[in-house]
Parts: sequence; structure tokens; C-alpha cells
Amino acid sequence: MTPREPPSTAAPATPPASVERLHGIELVRDPQAMQARMLASRRAGQRIVFVPTMGYLHEGHVSLLRRGRALGELLVLSIFVNPMQFGPTEDLSRYPRDLDGDLRKAATAGCDLAFLPEPAGLYPDGFQTQVQVTQVEKGLCGDQRPGHFIGVATVVLKLCNLVQPDLLLLGEKDYQQLQVLRRMARDLNLPVAVVGCPLVRDTDGVALSSRNAYLSPAERVQARVLSRALFAVRDAYADGERGSQALLAVAQAMLAREPALRLHYLELRDADTLATADPVLTRSAVLLVAGSIGTTRLLDNVILSG
Ligand code: AMP
Repeated sequence: MTPREPPSTAAPATPPASVERLHGIELVRDPQAMQARMLASRRAGQRIVFVPTMGYLHEGHVSLLRRGRALGELLVLSIFVNPMQFGPTEDLSRYPRDLDGDLRKAATAGCDLAFLPEPAGLYPDGFQTQVQVTQVEKGLCGDQRPGHFIGVATVVLKLCNLVQPDLLLLGEKDYQQLQVLRRMARDLNLPVAVVGCPLVRDTDGVALSSRNAYLSPAERVQARVLSRALFAVRDAYADGERGSQALLAVAQAMLAREPALRLHYLELRDADTLATADPVLTRSAVLLVAGSIGTTRLLDNVILSG
């Protein structure tokens, strides 16, 4: 049977002048319109680079966009605060939002198009399908936030089906998420290359995060303890320490000095598989930490290699 051409309702590769734009970025809100728009770009031979986010952009997000700009012809950002990845007691309703500021920043990085779906558009009545990466999601944030990575994997697969990217850019800031999504892409034969991008920090060492906006000035100072503990371990590793327990002890001692920190986990894992690191490190490892300062949950990590 000759495959039938998809319906000819697809949007043209060059959008008509009537498309909605803000700060020079084309905006698409409807999932079906997005899929048609992107199909047209693919047919026109454009290489599509995709940066999914929950918005409230900072330099970390912008670094992904900048990296993406050099990798293809059409640079697509999505902004979607995904209800499916938030637990019932988490910060979904107060998650910070600033569409105008986001698009202004995205424009400086050369973003072409922003996909801005609404929850009802992505999760219509009757929605019931889930994607679960069963092993990599275990432990770390997976234990702290039951169902979180199912929500992440499901939405990213949906977004990839709509955006149809050649390249998917993700930050190492959310290290377990990156490994979950790499595994999903491999296991489900997604025709997309996953590109991990380095974690970006503020000048005081704190990992940039949209949730840093929740921190009071005093809490912001207290939050430095996470990166300081990780840097101390990185220094010990650079000085030749390879004992897992000894490296963890360096971080534990520093973290214990900040009474405002409620530590969720501190773990040394294999950087590729996320399996528990060997007692003596011979392969690249990643030290991952999560904790709360006040009501703000913070994540950080450092890769130990070479
Ligand atoms: P989010 O909006 O928090 O869901 O993040 C969207 C993307 O930006 C994810 O791939 C994150 O890992 C990445 N990202 C967030 N913060 C940073 C950061 N400080 N450095 C690098 N990438 C980041």
C-alpha cells in the first residue's frame, strides 16, 4: 500500500504574517496547530532544536537556548508548568510565572518559536496514559516526589511528539531527570538526540533555579551551603581522594554547619547509570544533593571525573 500523504492542512514552513508574536518570537498555543506547524518545518528540511521549560527563565535556561541556537535552524522553547509532575502538596499554584520577561530573555538567545500550551490542551478529559522509566527514577528525587518522573517523562514525550525535534536540550542541573529522559528516548526509539548542558550557577555559587525566587535574602545566603559542600568535595577529588565515604563525609560535615538546611538526600552515584557509586571511584561519579531551606526545595550536583 502506498502511504497516504498526511492531510494538507499543515501550516506553511514560513508562517503567515498574521501569526502571534511577542519580542519577535512566534507564539503557538494550540497543540494541534503546533504539530502542524512543526511538521511543515520538518518538510522544509529545517533542523529543529527544542528546549522544554516551565518558564520563569534565568541564565540556566538561556544557556540551553544559546547552545541550541548553534545546533539547528529552528529553535523552539516550550513553557508549560506541568501539573502531572507536581505532588498534591507541592508548589504548582505558586510556581512563578513571567511570560513577557521569559520571551524577552529567550529573544536575546535567538529563540524562534515558543510553544505555550494550557493544561486542558495537553491533558484533555479522559487522558490516562503514563510513561514510566522504572529503574532510573528510583531513589533520589524519585523517592522524595512519588510520581514526579512519570509526569516528567509523559509530558516530555508528548512535547516531543508535538515539536518533533531533532535535538532535545536538557540541563545537568536536574541530573536524574536528564538520565530518566535519556533512557526514555533510547527505550522508546525517539528520533531525537538528547544533549545534556552544563549546570549554570549564580556568582555566589548557588545553582540557578526558578524556585530561588521563593528564597528570602537570609535564606538565599543559607542556600549557599549546598554548592559550598559540593565544591569542597570537588576539591578533595581533585586532590586525589577517591574513597566514596571520605568524599561524602566532606560534604556532610559542611552541610551540618547550616541549621536552616533540611537535608533530603546526599548521594554519590555513577554519572552514567546513576547506580550507587563504588566504594573506591574508578569511573565518573556525580554527587547529588537535595534539601529545603524554609519551604523552598533546592537541588544541586557536581560531576567528579578525570
Ligand atoms: P525547568 O524550567 O526548571 O523545568 O528547567 C528547564 C530546563 O532547564 C531543564 O532541562 C533544566 O535542567 C534546565 N535548567 C534549569 N536550571 C538550570 C541551570 N541552573 N543550569 C542549566 N540548566 C538548567
